[in-house]
Amino acid sequence: MSKLRAAARSGRGLQQGAGEGRKSPRRCRENVSSHKGMLPPVPAQQSAYHLFSHVAEIKTFRKNLLAWYDKCKRDLPWRKLAASESDANRRAYAVWVSEIMLQQTQVATVIDYYNRWMQKWPTLQALAKASLEEVNELWAGLGYYSRGKRLQEAAQKVVSELAGQMPATAEELQRLLPGVGKYTAGAIASISYGQVTGVVDGNVIRVLCRVRCIGADSSSPAVTDRLWDLANSLVDPARPGDFNQAMMELGATVCTPRAPLCMECPVKQHCRARCRVEKELEFASKRLLGKAAFSCSQAPDIEECGLLAGLWEFPSLALELGLKEKQQREVLLAHVQAWAGEAVARGRLRHVGEVSHVFSHIHQTYVVYSLLLGGDHKTASGRRDKMLERPAFRWVTQAEFQKAAVSTAMKKVWKAFERQICEGRGSGQGCKRKRAANPSRAGQWKVEADGSLPPRQFSLDAFLKAPAGE
Ligand code: SF4
Repeated sequence: MSKLRAAARSGRGLQQGAGEGRKSPRRCRENVSSHKGMLPPVPAQQSAYHLFSHVAEIKTFRKNLLAWYDKCKRDLPWRKLAASESDANRRAYAVWVSEIMLQQTQVATVIDYYNRWMQKWPTLQALAKASLEEVNELWAGLGYYSRGKRLQEAAQKVVSELAGQMPATAEELQRLLPGVGKYTAGAIASISYGQVTGVVDGNVIRVLCRVRCIGADSSSPAVTDRLWDLANSLVDPARPGDFNQAMMELGATVCTPRAPLCMECPVKQHCRARCRVEKELEFASKRLLGKAAFSCSQAPDIEECGLLAGLWEFPSLALELGLKEKQQREVLLAHVQAWAGEAVARGRLRHVGEVSHVFSHIHQTYVVYSLLLGGDHKTASGRRDKMLERPAFRWVTQAEFQKAAVSTAMKKVWKAFERQICEGRGSGQGCKRKRAANPSRAGQWKVEADGSLPPRQFSLDAFLKAPAGE
């Protein structure tokens, strides 16, 4: 079994195909319908797909990005000032002015305004003495006049209330200076004071979402929090300011919203989005040349193509080709046990059959197993997926399953399971098919290796009932 993302309240566990990572390349897939009980949380390694979890990879990412930045960065006046100014207070002021001006304004437009501003008010003491009229006059044409006004008010506050000393940490900058938000505070603190803190702006969001293939809504608070975590885990401890500027520079000049220059990208080897696209292109070109047979091993992973993003599915696991049934069971059992959080008797795993489905141009084969869970499982939804702000798995009834956002392939899996149940109990109520002609198959549900399966569990209706006490 592997991932089910929705589930049945007494019946089937489902998990959501939201694009969490799996090992690639993916092959055939096993699915398990589990009966009764709550599935435990998705194993931690699945969410690692969207993170940087290996120290060596983080180090290489930093090294490559900074080497590129040193070579390719644009020559900008605020960068020159930040690099040459020895007084920390003046340095922070210079960065602060640039960050406020750059909010919602293009770099090319800002340069001239910045040079004139810094010439007129080279220190925050000088700015604090300026009149609002002077500030508005110089700001004219830059838009969003309140930014200039707030900048001057904050300068006055630093002079009058903080003895002319700029706060030196991101937390204090944000707390004490009007108009300074989390991003600006992080930028000033890392660039001017070397505080090891990441920053997240529009450019950084785009880069992070692409390198870690994050398709969730990046404007939602939960996703934003995760992106900050990601930025903080990546930032270079020796050169935090340069690293943050390099991330923004990359987003502005290489990883652009449209037509990113992936071939020139210094972090392309870490980019999951690029990897997916390349797989798709490779597969498409093989198909075009007639070299791609419709085999699972050739096809890119279905979820990696995004095709099933947001849909619920039974727990599933990518299988290497060529595994014998016994080996499949071993792999599956380990996976099931991780989900169930308890030992599962080997004999409870039932082979249902194989289901083929074509997603777009990709053929996928599901090797379906069913599992009857024992014990007193709860039926509430499982832990929440922080990135997607929804349960990572849930249990559903049969009726809920039919109405849920599930793929046609999952419905086929379910039908295969229903057929097996019907064959096991004959042509009773709810079964359209007659008893299977093959006696060994018809009796499949009657024999449990551990002998613990009660006879009434052979009925589909029986295990779809809500557990007692719910
Ligand atoms: Fe962006 Fe392409 Fe680089 Fe990925 S490889 S980060 S998509 S420019």
